[in-house]
Amino acid sequence: MSELNPVKVRAVVLASRSAGEADKLLTLYTYELGKVRARAVSAGRTTAKLLGATEPFVESELMVFLRPGSSWGKITGGRLLRCYPTLYTGWTATTEASELCELLDRLTPDQQSSPDKFELICQALAQVAREPHPAIRWAFALRLLVLAGFGLRLDGCLRCGPAETALWLAPAVGGLLCAVHAGRGDKRMLVSPAVQERLRWLATIPWEAIRSKTWSPEATGFLEQLIDQCLTPHLTRPLRSAQFRMQLA
Ligand SMILES: [Zn+2]
Repeated sequence: MSELNPVKVRAVVLASRSAGEADKLLTLYTYELGKVRARAVSAGRTTAKLLGATEPFVESELMVFLRPGSSWGKITGGRLLRCYPTLYTGWTATTEASELCELLDRLTPDQQSSPDKFELICQALAQVAREPHPAIRWAFALRLLVLAGFGLRLDGCLRCGPAETALWLAPAVGGLLCAVHAGRGDKRMLVSPAVQERLRWLATIPWEAIRSKTWSPEATGFLEQLIDQCLTPHLTRPLRSAQFRMQLA
């Protein structure tokens, strides 16, 4: 890639905020370069060509100029490839989509390419746009942890292998532990064999199948906490979008 010419990228807009009179500051997840932060000059004007291509959750083809050594790029042109109108029409869809985007932003270093993470965010946003369900976010979180190198082993106790009993979740050490191997600090949440199976499903089954499973209110509440525990060791502070979701709830 030439550092002195704009680079054409396929990007999902993870976040977009106004700056100055009509500029937008964007956090992008690109297929080619991973996470990129860039300024889109005048993209906030209602007549701007880039207005739609720089809105949150859209997928766009953008020309990004990156100065060597600078963490901020500049958008010099582009076009909208895909947008999901349903992500803007209800609080649930908007908060779920925001949370996926914030999570990817927070668990990803700048400018480190990962086509798999790009595909993951595209697929998950498309699923939320079809019909929001918290299980999409749980699946996204577990799969993102794997791609980020923090994947959890969910097929038994980390120390002694397969077990058909309840196990303690120990995210800081990367999985589940039996009562014998869990230290006091690891005993945070006891995960039944049925929930262990749910976690394995979430990490692996096709997206369409996730929503078709039955999720009881108790299972939903428990899994919210469980996924939260899985993410905590990797987040220095809570996600803003998650706090907002909990306030809404
Ligand atoms: Zn064990």
